[in-house]
Amino acid sequence: MGSDKPVNLLDFDRRAMEAYFVSLGAKPFHGRNVFKWIHKHGVTDFSRMTDLSKKLRAQLGETAEVRLPQVVVEKPSADGTLKWVLELEDGQRVETVWIPDGRRSTVCVSSQVGCALDCAFCSTARQGFNRNLTVGEIIGQLWQAARIMGKFPTNVVLMGMGEPLANFEPVVSAMSIMQDDLAYMLSKYRVTISTSGIVPNLYRLKAVSDVSLAVSLHAPDNALRDELVPINRKYPLEELIPACREYVRGDKRRKVTWEYVMLDGVNDSDAHAKALIRLLEGTPSKMNLIPFNPFPGSPYRSSPPERIEAFRQRLLRAGIMAIVRKTRGDDIDAACGQLVGRVRDRSGRAVKLQWGSMG
Ligand code: SAH
Repeated sequence: MGSDKPVNLLDFDRRAMEAYFVSLGAKPFHGRNVFKWIHKHGVTDFSRMTDLSKKLRAQLGETAEVRLPQVVVEKPSADGTLKWVLELEDGQRVETVWIPDGRRSTVCVSSQVGCALDCAFCSTARQGFNRNLTVGEIIGQLWQAARIMGKFPTNVVLMGMGEPLANFEPVVSAMSIMQDDLAYMLSKYRVTISTSGIVPNLYRLKAVSDVSLAVSLHAPDNALRDELVPINRKYPLEELIPACREYVRGDKRRKVTWEYVMLDGVNDSDAHAKALIRLLEGTPSKMNLIPFNPFPGSPYRSSPPERIEAFRQRLLRAGIMAIVRKTRGDDIDAACGQLVGRVRDRSGRAVKLQWGSMG
């Protein structure tokens, strides 16, 4: 049934767009022009793409469209963070977050509807896995964010719902659009993929992309990581760490960003810090300590601030750059691990807001 739908040009990175235009009997540069109209200028209406011939515009009108995910809810946080719920063509929903920080701004993008990994401390895991996002649904989140805010963000992180390396090709293609000079123009240091550690795909990633790498570590040993991040049973630390080291090898400016959620009494002791230091010896590392963000029914508590600071100091003394990630947007359930594709009011009831002000 879906096969007679017009092609969605949002699914094409630059190369695919050029190939598509060649298949129409046009030239690759026509494809580049359209790519630029869509992403750099935000224009989706072929009649406004004035550097294309009337004939080509008419031909496009018959075979192609630009179909965007629709913003159905916008939730502003007291700290300036914005969360959008986007509805996809089949009615599924994902969340995208805009995080302003002085002159910087970061968009946090989802890669799947739900997630299959079942990490013990993450609310996205609770909803299970529905499906992968398409290229257009991934890059469409950034397209919408840029149009709503009237500017491109300075950074993009693939840290929303889902495991990006479990949706490999669409994620790689969407990231290439983020980095493209004809589109969002983000450097390799400003696009970051966050993964729980799908080891074979880390090696594949290095072959096709140069984005920055963040890895959800959360535990310094296999026994604890098996429990917190169950994919560890398949790809244990002795495979994960060398794969990450290999990813950053060859670029002296590069480090692996490790994410470590601070769970009270679970992974936050001095002994854990010590084991972590030993584990990361020889790997260029940056540690992001993340205060645990609670969600309804979550079995954990965040480590107290003093504990997090003591943990951080230990890492610093061992020469590991460590910061505490600022919690942003937690009042609107937009913080790490709180994205579920629907909005709840304070009593935990699901609410649906109307989106009324889109340009
Ligand atoms: N699946 C990817 C990206 C999504 S999660 C990954 O695992 O990296 C982005 C980050 O938020 C991950 O480090 C994740 O472990 C962390 N996170 C998940 N739930 C959290 C919670 N409740 N509090 C704080 N951080 C959480």
